[in-house]
Amino acid sequence: MSERDALVAREVVSRLERVVAGSERRGLHEPVFSGNEVSYLRDAVNSGYVSTAGEFVKRFEDSLREIIGVSEVFATSSGTAALELALIGSGVGPGDEVILPSFTFVATANAVSHVGADPHFVDIDSVTLGISPSRLRELLDQQTTFTDGLVLNSLTGKRIAAIVPMHTFGSPVNLRELMEIAREFRVPVVEDAAEALGSNFGGRPAGSFGLASAISFNGNKIVTTGGGGLVATNDSDVGTLVRHLGSTAKVPHPYHFIHDRVGFNYRMPALNAALGLAQVERLDHFLESKARLHQQYVEAFSDFDEARVFEAPPASSPNHWLNALVFEPSWAHVRDLVCEIAARENVGVRPPWNPLHRLPMYADMQATEMSVTTEMFERVLTVPSSAGIV
Ligand SMILES: *Cc1c(COP(=O)(O)O)cnc(C)c1O
Repeated sequence: MSERDALVAREVVSRLERVVAGSERRGLHEPVFSGNEVSYLRDAVNSGYVSTAGEFVKRFEDSLREIIGVSEVFATSSGTAALELALIGSGVGPGDEVILPSFTFVATANAVSHVGADPHFVDIDSVTLGISPSRLRELLDQQTTFTDGLVLNSLTGKRIAAIVPMHTFGSPVNLRELMEIAREFRVPVVEDAAEALGSNFGGRPAGSFGLASAISFNGNKIVTTGGGGLVATNDSDVGTLVRHLGSTAKVPHPYHFIHDRVGFNYRMPALNAALGLAQVERLDHFLESKARLHQQYVEAFSDFDEARVFEAPPASSPNHWLNALVFEPSWAHVRDLVCEIAARENVGVRPPWNPLHRLPMYADMQATEMSVTTEMFERVLTVPSSAGIV
């Protein structure tokens, strides 16, 4: 590290500090409970329905169906569980292969593995930080055959059962191009929209494009239920199957326990839904606050040559869940020094996830060339992004 490096790192932290100055919320992403959270939780406790029965799960699901603009939703105990159900509901199963980015939280690949399929990693593009449509097309063009109605990977012989795009930091991938490719090659899309509640692409909500999609309400997401998730779909068969499998595959009967499949206990409890209902009532407010914060970061770094703020392309209107700096390639080496200084000064910054294709359990999986993923892993830094900072 040269003296110049230290100065640049110091300057990055100073600019971040100027934006978050005056706010208590200096962590990467902290929840805000300023609505009906306590009141709804009290109602849920007083009603006696703290588990999956009662009104709150239904009210929570109703409001999300409206926000995402789909016909069916199913609230789950986590985003990972939602993604698993979305995959199974879309027909993915043991022995299949699923296309996904390596630049994502590990849960995306774990959900694929949990349903018995193999992840097949595709590089991202630097415009969206999501799966690259041109790399995806290349792969489908050059390495698959269409046989008996199935898309087969000609190297592994496995069926490519789904494409799982992930909307990085809440910024949608190019869904127009991606859906076009998926249609052309007849592979269903399952969106990992865990980070993208409230984001739009071409005026339509993220999470409403795929055959099914998954949202997360973990404590660090834009809306939280403590822990939880949601499957969204416009396909009534998928919706019915997801609901059935996610609630122990119980066949309705007034008193007998009849189950007709190996199901899951993935239902969201009412306590979590009560918290979540109060949170979604505040979603518009969170979105406005986060858009203001994003603008302040853009301005704070507008005259800074060594790093810029990641901005979504014009077709998308992201929820700004996490703001990110992108260092110029020649300055990526100062990023970890920024992390050290920021930690001392209590400013919550984090590098992105280690690329999944390098993790021990996924290192042997199929993967395209990964130059953008590995480069962006070095150049990106996420910065404090809670609602209510400004
Ligand atoms: C948060 C997240 C998940 C998983 O959500 P959980 O609710 O923590 O299980 C999946 N994918 C991505 C990209 C996420 O950010």
